Amino acid sequence: MVTLPKYVSLTSGHAEGMDDLTAFDNALKAAGIADLNLIKVSSIVPQGSRLVPLREFPVGSLVPTVYAQAYSNKPGETVAAAVGMGLSPDGRGVIMEGHGVGTKEEMEALVRRRVEAAFRERGLELHEYYVVSAEHTVEKHGCAVAAAVLWGDELEEMPEQWETEAWTPDVRFSVRIRQPVFSMRSPYQHINIVDTFQFGRMLWLEGTVQTTEADHWVYHEMLVHVPMFLHPEPKRVLIVGGGDGGALSTVLEHPVDRVVMVEIDRAVVQAAREYLPEIHRGAFDDPRVELVYEDAFTYLREGHGPFDVMLMDTTDPVGPAMRLFTQEFYRLVTDNLAPVGLVAAQSGSPWIQPEVVTRNWKAMRPHFDHLALYLASIPTYPGGLWSFTLGARGMDPAQVDPAALEARFQALGRPTYYYTPAVHRAAFILPPFVQRLLSA
Ligand code: SAM
Repeated sequence: MVTLPKYVSLTSGHAEGMDDLTAFDNALKAAGIADLNLIKVSSIVPQGSRLVPLREFPVGSLVPTVYAQAYSNKPGETVAAAVGMGLSPDGRGVIMEGHGVGTKEEMEALVRRRVEAAFRERGLELHEYYVVSAEHTVEKHGCAVAAAVLWGDELEEMPEQWETEAWTPDVRFSVRIRQPVFSMRSPYQHINIVDTFQFGRMLWLEGTVQTTEADHWVYHEMLVHVPMFLHPEPKRVLIVGGGDGGALSTVLEHPVDRVVMVEIDRAVVQAAREYLPEIHRGAFDDPRVELVYEDAFTYLREGHGPFDVMLMDTTDPVGPAMRLFTQEFYRLVTDNLAPVGLVAAQSGSPWIQPEVVTRNWKAMRPHFDHLALYLASIPTYPGGLWSFTLGARGMDPAQVDPAALEARFQALGRPTYYYTPAVHRAAFILPPFVQRLLSA
């Protein structure tokens, strides 16, 4: 009986000659899997499959294998074999083989087409793909072999790993981990970066989701593009927090002169720089950027303005971010704001943190000519619905001319995943239960 495999190694080799062993056995030996009894098994690898290095097997062990063998006895002929494995985001896999006369590139392309077709047929998304191949130009008799070695119950099962954020004492949000990437405790917070099946790479601070490869663009486009497209000439920008670099890289899509990012925790930037390149896209090294490692409260008290646009990309109001959701802080913010200026702040989940929405609104209200709340759908943030608060001085964001907004957006010519001028305007339309939080 073949136990359903949990681990997979891909390997390949080629050989010439029929003297001692058959060419096939020689090729397997070259591939590092000699003396195995081979069994062709199902092409479906169950959930949890992962690639691991090939282990040494004792002679005669029974190891299930999917293999491809291309054999020829025509001198000068090139034969090739390839085995490819595709994995879906939740770890389901499909293995396909291809062999025949031709180069390894041709065989790899054939196998890729077969794997893609198998995913299509099963309605699965192809998330990761691995292929191995071998080719051999025959002198007398020879062959090329590629194999996927599947391991079953002989290895201990990996326990599933989950990361959990407590949204409330009664509600938790859990994500299954593909593998841990980085973890440390800085003077300010626990920094944790993990690869997940559902959301790609994720940054957690103090057990709270900060950003993910799968949906960071909702948050960053809405935090940044809304004020940047509204302001008539946003040249000087301040980001408070923002250690992952996502807001910074989005600001840099605009023709700004200078962006200051005041982040209290240098270790977050260092970790992001190394492990979150998809999110910061090299923004930390842009010559228009000034990185300041300081408490934003202290920085603004020193007076560094004026800024045209200021973005509050902070953690939720706990720990070092506590003081950033206060009237006192917003007095400092507006002290550093230009006469025509906009401030956008992440202001919590209307479902799970209604008190944060209200508290931030009350903290900002006395300091601005106009204040407006807008919403975006972010699956990994508490409740899936997120709020931003926009404070304006010297201009009214509600008086936006749709044609002018569209023209600004088109002129920038950047592709977006969430923001459009229509989404921008719709985001300010609030359902009554959110509206009520602003008069609480
Ligand atoms: N998008 C995120 C969210 O809402 O979950 C915020 C991302 S960003 C990583 C938040 C950053 O704010 C953190 O790196 C944290 O170190 C920084 N931060 C917290 N308090 C701060 C303060 N007082 N001054 C400057 N930065 C602060």
